[in-house]
Amino acid sequence: MQSRVALVTGGTGGIGTAIIRRLAQMGHRVATNYRDEARARAWQARMRGDGIDVALAQGDVSLPEQAQALVQEIERDLGPIEILVNNAGITRDSTFHRMTPLQWNEVIGTNLNSCFNVTRPVIEDMRERRWGRIVQISSINGLKGQYGQANYAAAKAGMHGFTISLARENARFGITVNTVSPGYVATDMVMAVPDDVRAKIVAEIPTGRLGTPDEIAYAVAFLVAEEAAWITGSNLDINGGHHMGW
Ligand code: NDP
Repeated sequence: MQSRVALVTGGTGGIGTAIIRRLAQMGHRVATNYRDEARARAWQARMRGDGIDVALAQGDVSLPEQAQALVQEIERDLGPIEILVNNAGITRDSTFHRMTPLQWNEVIGTNLNSCFNVTRPVIEDMRERRWGRIVQISSINGLKGQYGQANYAAAKAGMHGFTISLARENARFGITVNTVSPGYVATDMVMAVPDDVRAKIVAEIPTGRLGTPDEIAYAVAFLVAEEAAWITGSNLDINGGHHMGW
């Protein structure tokens, strides 16, 4: 299998780490961004201990100049980015009637604007090279909505529009663009939810448990494979049956 250069944004987080591990196991050269240098270097050392070498570049993906700079730094280190996973994300939950402009803007900036900010600097090169894989990590809540998450659901639903438009524009250039929509996964983001609320969520999941980060990474690995060349503009729900669409 051909070794590609892969950028996973938010790669130091729960799901991002699992995606990086999977892509590295597939033989790809992997990179991610960071904001806190000390934390990122400690994470990088842990990954190296497991035999995974991850290139790091500093940058906040909600800011266009920083996103462009981090892409350039990674490309200088590893070569042109061929696989991009837009995974960085945050929550700033509040019922809408109490939501502040800051809570709205931070979530739209990090979860949705980041897709523009990071994809824009890689897409032209992918088109020229006539090969690319782009995957957005959206959410079950972008499909079904969630109490207290108008900002998050709007951003995550917006990712679908981004995916299907990019898929159309770039299909003839050997580039596939897809979305993965995880349900509730046992990462810091979900473990920060109060125990009683989490128990209610788990009770609604037909499989009776939260997902694991590696179960999401498996879907990303599937979509970025050479063999997945005819899968584009799709959304893959991975949620233990929590929300079933068609
Ligand atoms: P984590 O909080 O564990 O990781 C988030 C990652 O994103 C971190 O590496 C974080 O870096 C990075 N990040 C956040 N903001 C920025 C920014 N402005 N610029 C650059 N990097 C940033 O989250 P998860 O692993 O749980 O989530 C990953 C993705 O999956 C998110 O998009 C999330 O919305 C989505 N998702 C998660 C679900 C879950 O159940 N966990 C369910 C459905 C979707 P830093 O350490 O610097 O903050």
